[in-house]
Amino acid sequence: MNNRAAESPDGIKIGIMGGTFDPIHYGHLLAADEAHAAFGLSEVIFIPSGHPPHKANKKLTSPEDRYLMTELATVDCPYFSVSRVEIDRQGSSYTIDTLRALRAMPKYAGAQFYFITGLDAVLDIVSWKNPEEIMTMCRFVAVSRYGYSPKKMEELPEELRTKIIPLEIPLLAISSTELRERARNGRSIRFMVPPAVEKFIRKKSLYRNNTEE
Ligand code: ATP
Ligand code: MG
Repeated sequence: MNNRAAESPDGIKIGIMGGTFDPIHYGHLLAADEAHAAFGLSEVIFIPSGHPPHKANKKLTSPEDRYLMTELATVDCPYFSVSRVEIDRQGSSYTIDTLRALRAMPKYAGAQFYFITGLDAVLDIVSWKNPEEIMTMCRFVAVSRYGYSPKKMEELPEELRTKIIPLEIPLLAISSTELRERARNGRSIRFMVPPAVEKFIRKKSLYRNNTEE
């Protein structure tokens, strides 16, 4: 990666994978794992959002259940961790506030952050709070997502687009929206989410009474 030259030699590289994770699925895990390998990250922190501003009018599974599913999904991987930073914060979950909170933690002093998103999310970035400042606080990675052409990135303002690092990953056409729909209709979600997440969804009857989709 030609971006490596600009890094301080002792700065650790930390991935951040934000999301609603309602529920977490193999698409999220693959994106994080591919970024881990591509950029030599020492850790990828999964950060379930507490109150995502862009999903404010949707009925979400409780933050605690989304947090627990994220823990269950990542527990087997030694370089994946889960943070409660957004779950425990009041008000809307803005990425800029999360980056500031992580920066202030002594264990991440001097770290270079890699914020990992799918191409669909990156195309929305103009609607985020303080996108220019976000770009100065981390490297912004856009992984491939089924149904979204990388060409769409050309529509972003140049000052943002030039800072985004595209990362091609195998396409997994899985979304939480489809998983909720499948669970609601009693269809199988096996092989789309880790077994422990599937069991958790079944045990707690999540999504069975969903009417949102
Ligand atoms: P929903 O359908 O509810 O929006 P989702 O599957 O898009 O759910 P999110 O929690 O919204 O999941 O996504 C969190 C992050 O993971 C976003 O940056 C999104 O682009 C990325 N992501 C989600 N699914 C995939 C996938 N299959 N491949 C690559 N990236 C993904
Ligand atoms: Mg999404």
